[in-house]
Amino acid sequence: MNPNNTFDLDAAIRKVPDFPKPGILFYDITSIFTNPPAYKYVVDEMLSRYNGTEIDGVIAIESRGFLLGSCFAVANGVPLVLARKKGKLPGKTIEMSYDLEYGSATLEIHEEDVAPGRRWLIIDDLIATGGTLAAVASMIERRGGEVVGIFSIIGLPFLGFREKVGKYGPVTLIDYDNE
Ligand code: AMP
Repeated sequence: MNPNNTFDLDAAIRKVPDFPKPGILFYDITSIFTNPPAYKYVVDEMLSRYNGTEIDGVIAIESRGFLLGSCFAVANGVPLVLARKKGKLPGKTIEMSYDLEYGSATLEIHEEDVAPGRRWLIIDDLIATGGTLAAVASMIERRGGEVVGIFSIIGLPFLGFREKVGKYGPVTLIDYDNE
């Protein structure tokens, strides 16, 4: 916990220009995971933002979302459901395709893991267009679940995520306004 909110999160995030293709500034959060105070700050902040929110389970998005979602699930004693790239999950799945800032993708979750009527928090590392989180939210809603929040370390509001997923009350720890 950092009660003074003085932690320099920006300094802990590696920025890689022109990755994975020219024109994209890639915000690499592996530099948070190798920096124990930074990782602890991010996890503590994430937990504190949802203190008091009734959450039945967390959906973590492959792959960097796993490293936050697992911390949330263990700390709060709630189920962790993995949203994985198509073809990785062995059981019966529901799937959703969506557009990315660069390219497109399909995510799946095990259908039986998201029973109707539950309240879910969805976690990823970064929200750009919001397409990934919107796709996962739509899968939850198709199953009769409720999305009570979405969390990411980083937000790129200039790519429009607030318009796309604003209704889920997106929480980010740091926003970058342009590249
Ligand atoms: P989006 O669906 O557009 O919100 O994209 C979010 C997903 O793409 C996240 O899983 C991010 O890991 C990844 N992503 C998109 N843009 C970037 C970026 N500039 N830097 C790092 N990751 C990104």
